[in-house]
Amino acid sequence: MAAVRVERPSVCPLDCPDTCSLTVTVEDDRIVAIRGSHANPYTGGVLCAKVPEAYPAFVHGAGRLRTPLRRVGAKGEGRFARITWAEALDLVHERFAAVVAEHGPQAILPLNYAGPHGMLAGGSMDLRFFHKLGASLLDRRPLCGGIRTEAWVGTFGSVPGIRPEQIAHARLIIVWGNNVTWSNLHLMPLINRARKAGARLVVVDPRRTVIARRADLHIALRPGTDVVLAWAVAAELERRDGIDRAFVERHVEGFEEFMALARRWSVSEAARVCGVSEGDIRALAEWYHALAPAAISVGNGLERNQNGGSGIRAIFALPALGGKFGVPGGGLVNGASFAFPKTPRRLARPDLVPEGTRTLNIIDVGRHLLDASLVPPIKAVFIYNHNPVVVHPDQNRLRRGLEREDLFVVGSDVVMTDSLAYADVVLPACSHFEHADLYPAYGQHWLQRAEPVIPPQGEALPNTEIFRRLAARFGFTDPIFRASDAELMDDALDPDDPRLAGVRPSTLPTDQALAMTIDGEDAVMFGNVFPKTPSGKVELASTYLERKYGARLPSWRPVESRYPLALISPASDRRITSTFGGLHVGDGPPPLEMHPDDARARGLHDGMRVRVWNDLGEIRLPLRISDAVVRGVVATLKGAWLATSERGQTVSALCPAHHADISEGACFNDARVEVAAA
Ligand code: SF4
Repeated sequence: MAAVRVERPSVCPLDCPDTCSLTVTVEDDRIVAIRGSHANPYTGGVLCAKVPEAYPAFVHGAGRLRTPLRRVGAKGEGRFARITWAEALDLVHERFAAVVAEHGPQAILPLNYAGPHGMLAGGSMDLRFFHKLGASLLDRRPLCGGIRTEAWVGTFGSVPGIRPEQIAHARLIIVWGNNVTWSNLHLMPLINRARKAGARLVVVDPRRTVIARRADLHIALRPGTDVVLAWAVAAELERRDGIDRAFVERHVEGFEEFMALARRWSVSEAARVCGVSEGDIRALAEWYHALAPAAISVGNGLERNQNGGSGIRAIFALPALGGKFGVPGGGLVNGASFAFPKTPRRLARPDLVPEGTRTLNIIDVGRHLLDASLVPPIKAVFIYNHNPVVVHPDQNRLRRGLEREDLFVVGSDVVMTDSLAYADVVLPACSHFEHADLYPAYGQHWLQRAEPVIPPQGEALPNTEIFRRLAARFGFTDPIFRASDAELMDDALDPDDPRLAGVRPSTLPTDQALAMTIDGEDAVMFGNVFPKTPSGKVELASTYLERKYGARLPSWRPVESRYPLALISPASDRRITSTFGGLHVGDGPPPLEMHPDDARARGLHDGMRVRVWNDLGEIRLPLRISDAVVRGVVATLKGAWLATSERGQTVSALCPAHHADISEGACFNDARVEVAAA
């Protein structure tokens, strides 16, 4: 009989700002091809190369988890035996119940992150379950994106910035710490359109990325000095009479306090600290003064250091100082996650959390696992939507924690990962192609919904069903633990919000994304969107950030280390963080880029294997000598799996686990290393 071939709409759920709409070709219940669709006009039929190349093998390939498993080898070894769902749920119940009886429910820690970005798979029934159980709460945001979000909320409140489509109207576009061609692809055609109409493009990035090569000005600053550069631009704007005094008077809080810090930075001193030319800083200030509309896109790259929040806040200050808001294309292409009428209190039910339950920072999990003084200790971990062994800073410490024989680890994922190798019980999860979900975005303003395009593979279950079954096994009888996926969708977004135009979330069409607008109009900052801060103004001195982190104003301090080279580890063009890493193990480890002068000083030559080390670990990488990185900086790509490495460590092993200035965020780019021939 001839194979049945159909095309079905879907959405990319990966940890990427673009959230593309997809057309999936299915043949006899197998995904055979994926291409971009036009259901989401923003992504407009275009995808990155990663998804069509890897997704079919990810869903159907050898690494796919199809049945529950029980560990039979050593922790981390990856030897498992098949068990039934009933046995798996019994095991989880038995061990969790024993932990609760001896140490209380807070000795259980859900360790979940952003594998899928669907609202149901990402945080719905799972959170209801853990909240009711009384497990420790996990603050996930510090790992990535939380610093930028907190900087945004502290400066503007929970309101959206401009839609990325407005970039096409800009006369000046500044892409700051955002490798657009790999991680925010759909900005590129908009930037190109604006440039054809005469716009200038500035890229601020320590690496000469593809977009940096095309820019009118590339400012290759030292990692962690963004705040100094932004302060210097602010001070230079003032010297050029480029402050919009009327706007500041009416809409800005903390102007004098902020500018007192900025004025300390002469162009020459800032140039010295940032490692850039004085001319570059002056050009940036001059263009920002002269050109409007001016749009800035701030990526995640610059948050990954101890000054990360300060850098982003100082950049967010620039459009307020320069009076760049109020016109389409003017302001900041950020804050997109606030464009959607989310109702997390109804979806995740935080009201179920017992009073006094502690919250643990995701980047501290390795430390907590090894902390004998922690009360109660962590005795059980449930890893899902996450590959912490690859992704967390201080990888070796986390692995030592997961190796603890007295720690019960449950792992749930679509494929076997480096982290699930430490699990005592493995639960097979559906890929997003196998269940329905809702998809807001964090880089654009279109809401999407998808239905399954294939049936669950093997015995895999959607996250919602896994936690429904667990809730039943734990005797949670309230109807909220039996809510269907459709009911969860209707809890995820406010059905009465005008942005939904009267459509219930669970019935949104799957072949047409819904634009999140303000009364039918595009969001324009200081047009129809105004700050929701305590003062109702743009808070350059933030009461919110002062209360939460003692960070009323941005600040800067250099990293102190005996290791001379700054190591940065941006996103790769093959993986989305670590997702798909198991399919690319054969590529080997990613190269280490090093400036020719640094290589010469160490007697290194292109293509050789080098060892890269600090006090936390040591990795071996092939060397690529290139002036795409500045002197004193080396770069490799994050997310490679352990099997790519001859020493069983990846770049995360070299990244420190200290906290940034706000959000207690991760500081991957504060890694300092030495490099020598292997
Ligand atoms: S990873 Fe990003 S660019 Fe690639 S298909 Fe998914 S949403 Fe689109």
